[in-house]
Amino acid sequence: MSTVAEAASCREATPPRYDVLVVGAGLHGGLAALALLDARPGLRLALVERDERPAGNHTWCFHAADVPRDVGGWFGRLPVLEWPGYRVAFPGFSRELALPYRCLTADALVAALRAVFAERPQATLLTGCAVQAVSADCVTLVDGRVLRADCVIDARGGATQDQRGGYQKFLGLEVALEADSGLDRPVLMDACLAQGPQFRFMYVLPLAPRRLLIEDTAFALTPDLDAAGCRAAIRAYAAGHGWHITQVVREESGVLPMPWRGRPPAPARPLTLGYSGGWYHPATGYSMPAALRVADLLARHGTEAVPAIQAAWHAQARQFRFGQLLNLLAFRGFRPDLMWHPFARFYRLPLATIERFYGQRSTVLDAARLLLGRPPRGFGSAWWGRDRRARACS
Ligand SMILES: Cc1cc2nc3c(=O)[nH]c(=O)nc-3n(C[C@H](O)[C@H](O)[C@H](O)COP(=O)(O)OP(=O)(O)OC[C@H]3O[C@@H](n4cnc5c(N)ncnc54)[C@H](O)[C@@H]3O)c2cc1C
Repeated sequence: MSTVAEAASCREATPPRYDVLVVGAGLHGGLAALALLDARPGLRLALVERDERPAGNHTWCFHAADVPRDVGGWFGRLPVLEWPGYRVAFPGFSRELALPYRCLTADALVAALRAVFAERPQATLLTGCAVQAVSADCVTLVDGRVLRADCVIDARGGATQDQRGGYQKFLGLEVALEADSGLDRPVLMDACLAQGPQFRFMYVLPLAPRRLLIEDTAFALTPDLDAAGCRAAIRAYAAGHGWHITQVVREESGVLPMPWRGRPPAPARPLTLGYSGGWYHPATGYSMPAALRVADLLARHGTEAVPAIQAAWHAQARQFRFGQLLNLLAFRGFRPDLMWHPFARFYRLPLATIERFYGQRSTVLDAARLLLGRPPRGFGSAWWGRDRRARACS
């Protein structure tokens, strides 16, 4: 068995006993392994990934304030892009928010993982290795072999099935431009688009002067993604801004749950991280803040981190329910073409309230700011629309 990152393959592996087995080298599994290996260099850890390459094809953004205070050296291993803030735009209202915003690419996560596994001879990155079953102290691979460990972490991604709600679905094109875009910071939400049967906006990340990631995003009640329509809309949006695309470098897409009912069970053994463990923000779709929080706890407490992670999960459960309530109000309260109003109102709030909301750290006062006062324009329009449709049908 080779001990260097990605040199180890499924076939070569003989099944020794590990201290920790992490299943899934995506965002949560990757950060968990990185944090554990950095803080506990002697740990016998195996990171088991189904695909040949870890980390998938993503660009993960987050607010600088989501990084835990006094975070360990593992975070410094991650090359991240940073901007001093971002913009949002709605019909009749736009704002520049001075909230430092960061981005971690899948390539950067892969590079950090390769480096840490190369330095730790007792650690193994097994790629091209699909896992069939996970239990508290062992992992069964699809070829039938069983790997054993004192601590098993399941970070296979995917949302739990028993949730009810809407979806955030998006397709992004990373494009090379003929000339500088002129954008010096991301555009988190440009809702100045023709709205139709689903609420739509564009999200733009200036990765370099001539390189943009442009995502066409929709909030909808159905998970179907019109990929061709998104690509065409992105090209039209770019053209409308005078950005001449010379090449589409990469494409990424996602359909994320925006539930208003249901919640995965509290973490037990094996420890479930990532989306399937409920470690995400139901209203924004972001899971980076939760991934950073859990990785920080793993770095601090090592294999004894489970109680601290369970406590963090219960603290986050309140924030999760708050996000679910907002999803319910947005999807059930507003007709899709008017759904931008609550978001425009949200982005008028104080910066600290916005920042804490993204990081699932809202205070009672933040919640009051979001919920109290005059409802945003269009509230109730979904009910009226349904009533009218119901009357028309009867
Ligand atoms: C395109 C896209 C962009 C996003 N952008 C952001 C963002 O900007 N900020 C943010 O906070 N969130 C973002 N999200 C949401 C969320 O943070 C990501 O989906 C994140 O990757 C979820 O992390 P995860 O570890 O749960 O799953 P993943 O990152 O998907 O990792 C799961 C890993 O497990 C592996 N795996 C699955 N099954 C098996 C198996 N049987 N055996 C072995 N390995 C297996 C997969 O191959 C994968 O590598 C984005 C989501 C998508 C889809």
